Amino acid sequence: MTTVIRNATVVTGDQARTVLYDAAIAIDGSRIAAVGPTTEVAAAYADAEQVDATGQAVFPGLVNCHTHLLATADRGILEDFGFPTTLRFPTAARSLLSVEEQEVMATLGALEAMRSGTTCLMEISAGVAGYAQSLARTGLRLVLADNINDAEEGQARGGNRFSRERTDQGLGRSADLIEGWHGKEEGRVTCFVAPHAPEMCSPELLRASREMAESHGTGYTIHLSQSQDEIEAVMRSRGVPPTHYLFANDFLGPRLVVAHCRYVNSSEIALLGQAGVGVSNNAAIAARRGAAAPVKELQAAGCRIGMGSDNMAEDMVEVMRAGLFLERVRRNDQMDPQPEDMLEWATQGGADILGLGSETGSLEVGKKADLFLIDMMRPHLVPTLRIVSSFVHNGQPADVKSMMVDGEWIMRDGKALTIDEPYIVQRAEEIGHSVWNRVVSRYPNVPFPVKLPPVRE
Ligand SMILES: [Zn+2]
Repeated sequence: MTTVIRNATVVTGDQARTVLYDAAIAIDGSRIAAVGPTTEVAAAYADAEQVDATGQAVFPGLVNCHTHLLATADRGILEDFGFPTTLRFPTAARSLLSVEEQEVMATLGALEAMRSGTTCLMEISAGVAGYAQSLARTGLRLVLADNINDAEEGQARGGNRFSRERTDQGLGRSADLIEGWHGKEEGRVTCFVAPHAPEMCSPELLRASREMAESHGTGYTIHLSQSQDEIEAVMRSRGVPPTHYLFANDFLGPRLVVAHCRYVNSSEIALLGQAGVGVSNNAAIAARRGAAAPVKELQAAGCRIGMGSDNMAEDMVEVMRAGLFLERVRRNDQMDPQPEDMLEWATQGGADILGLGSETGSLEVGKKADLFLIDMMRPHLVPTLRIVSSFVHNGQPADVKSMMVDGEWIMRDGKALTIDEPYIVQRAEEIGHSVWNRVVSRYPNVPFPVKLPPVRE
């Protein structure tokens, strides 16, 4: 099956950052067969299905390098009270979700991702295999990672007692996930190994995680320098900052993606840069936490940069905009970064650090057709003199009209094709109310800063 998307503005996302006008893309099967002037491409593929995209722009699909889709259940609550993200409750709300509820909340997150231009995301969650099939059905490109740690349960966070049993359990789950999903759905699903965070992982777990990733040809990821609590805990138990603890256990390497890096010092930046580590710049959640990662310094040191949404939101348009604002404010710089830098981090940059850079991240011949179309004829986007800037500064998820992943339409003319949107939205609303009421009634004596709406019948 060949499709030609024609008469479009095409943001290729290639290295030269080429934008083509009155252009077309031919898609043959799952891959891009041609990109160029509409007259040439349409003539070369005259028998193809022709899709008129007049007034629309085609972008390479956005790549979310770090998210937890089940945290959509925490929306409206956990954005505003910092760490620990469980508030004072002994368990996280999302750990009380049934498998059916997990499937719905993960699908809700996938729907939001799709509606805001994301074609590929890395989902990191303990027990992700339980709802992987539901996620795969959305048609998105997925990197799945089971969130593991081997801190002994029952001790305060950041304690230094580790459980060998939990080390083995976590590694076992990761191996099963790779066995079950890596390379599946014709390569649309891959896996990562994901030890949770330095203060929650023993040296043995760190070393074994990297070894597993190397031996299976996957990447691996960890939260790093996420909170001041983490830094204090690692200083207390290891006597060094978190990055040095990872370095001392041979954990840093080019297959690694670290998320956050909010408080890394200059020696940590140097270590990460020398190892060529990938960084997921989770700018919107960082801003919500009152923090800003030294992204430009990390990049200058040798790190490769992608972007992620992390918790409670899947909107990568917002992440790009927050990233631009945050970095300019942090460095008191009116011009750097530019919108094109943000788009690059959110597309090719992310694809590269997830090990998918030769398959996705730009609209170039031979790559997978992972793309989305926006309606440019919108009051907040015209005049479209510089469409990347218009979209990064002013774009809204509702501008996204259609999406293709792996050459398949998963959203067309504003309608999600792989998800029953009305059902998912309604059911997710019920689940969100229900799970937070379960948390509050389970721990009636724990102070909770939110007044929940009345329980519905
Ligand atoms: Zn995270």
